[in-house]
Amino acid sequence: MSHSPVWHPFHQHGLGEDIPLVARAEGAVLHTSDGRAVLDVISSWWVITHCHNHPRIVEAIQRQAAQLDQLIFAGWTHQPAEDLARGLTAIMPRALEYVFFSDSGSTAVEVALKMALGYWANTGAPRAKIVVMEHSYHGDTIGAMSVGERGVFNRAYAPLLFDVETVPFPREGQEQATLDALETACKRGDAAAFIVEPLVLGAGGMLIYSPEVLRQMRQICSAHNVLFIADEVMTGWGRTGTLLACEQAGVVPDILCLAKGLTGGALPLAVTMATAPVYDAHYSADRSKMFFHSSSFTANPIACAAANANLAIWREEPVLERIATLAKRERAGFEAIAAKHPITNLRQLGTVIAMDVDIGESGYLADIGLKMRQGFYARDILLRPLGNTIYLKPPYCITEAQLGRVFGAIDEVLGEVL
Ligand SMILES: *Cc1c(COP(=O)(O)O)cnc(C)c1O
Repeated sequence: MSHSPVWHPFHQHGLGEDIPLVARAEGAVLHTSDGRAVLDVISSWWVITHCHNHPRIVEAIQRQAAQLDQLIFAGWTHQPAEDLARGLTAIMPRALEYVFFSDSGSTAVEVALKMALGYWANTGAPRAKIVVMEHSYHGDTIGAMSVGERGVFNRAYAPLLFDVETVPFPREGQEQATLDALETACKRGDAAAFIVEPLVLGAGGMLIYSPEVLRQMRQICSAHNVLFIADEVMTGWGRTGTLLACEQAGVVPDILCLAKGLTGGALPLAVTMATAPVYDAHYSADRSKMFFHSSSFTANPIACAAANANLAIWREEPVLERIATLAKRERAGFEAIAAKHPITNLRQLGTVIAMDVDIGESGYLADIGLKMRQGFYARDILLRPLGNTIYLKPPYCITEAQLGRVFGAIDEVLGEVL
């Protein structure tokens, strides 16, 4: 694949790595054009939930594509969007009564931030400060980067990022420091919203914290009227063992961001769901109070049809049982590996399982990450360690035999790189 004009995301072309060309997919397997069958154990970057090319989702896409491909969504509507909004309000916490569409996790976050500021601006008490958690990731657009962890990923763009108030990650045993910092930030009176990834910080390194902390953070926000934004772009759709991670803490956010698994991972689509007070703050005969956000493909009908098929799968198939079985198998495999190799910090929440290779040095750019990735690819496995952190987030359909292959490969690769 020399001389391709394609510029890849999060890829250093200067390293000259081979770029596989994938022709088709099935279940948890990617078939490359040179005949390899590669196991996708990170769900094509956390988006595929049930499996690649789920027949019900494929069928829904085909049917909708022949009927209505795209429609202006400002003041116009179509059945797939209406069905999806009703399906979502039925399956998600009841207080989240309104559904705003966009097309990626990053835009769902931008929309959430704009809703929060719009809420305060329209109710006559403007607030603009956003409170965030250390090590968070919320996307790669300017606003989403602003509320995320600062580092090598966004150093060049730092002059464009807005100021936020950061609370520490609630490390085990140090939870009170997080709660105290949040309380202080919320008390100040200028905080519009707190945005957080519930229970697991994904790109920040699969860092897990307790439901109790999530519950208390929610309470602090409520007590001080600070809007609580749950970014469930990664954690939603069963990833953590429940439909939403927030459920495990009995938390209902004011604003909820969903994307990745919304269509089962088949097409780009996102929603930002909001409570009545957030919607009502924009509801008026005054046009200057409307919600000023749109993108060309808002609520694309084909993407909505895919999401409706995903919701039907959730309603009709034992998805949570599959997830529980998968989680158990992952645990057993990782525990066996951890018993054999210098591994620390084995952690799991639902299908998200991670462990750190104990090498002293760490961080995303740690050399060992790249070496391991190459070792896995040589064994026909798509697994991208975050620095020295090895994690799995496979499609829920992955079989026991396929997982066995993955554990065997991790064992071999660790033997090679250490
Ligand atoms: C992936 C991710 C995003 C960004 O979603 P995109 O669709 O890639 O823009 C936002 N928040 C979280 C928690 C994510 O994991």
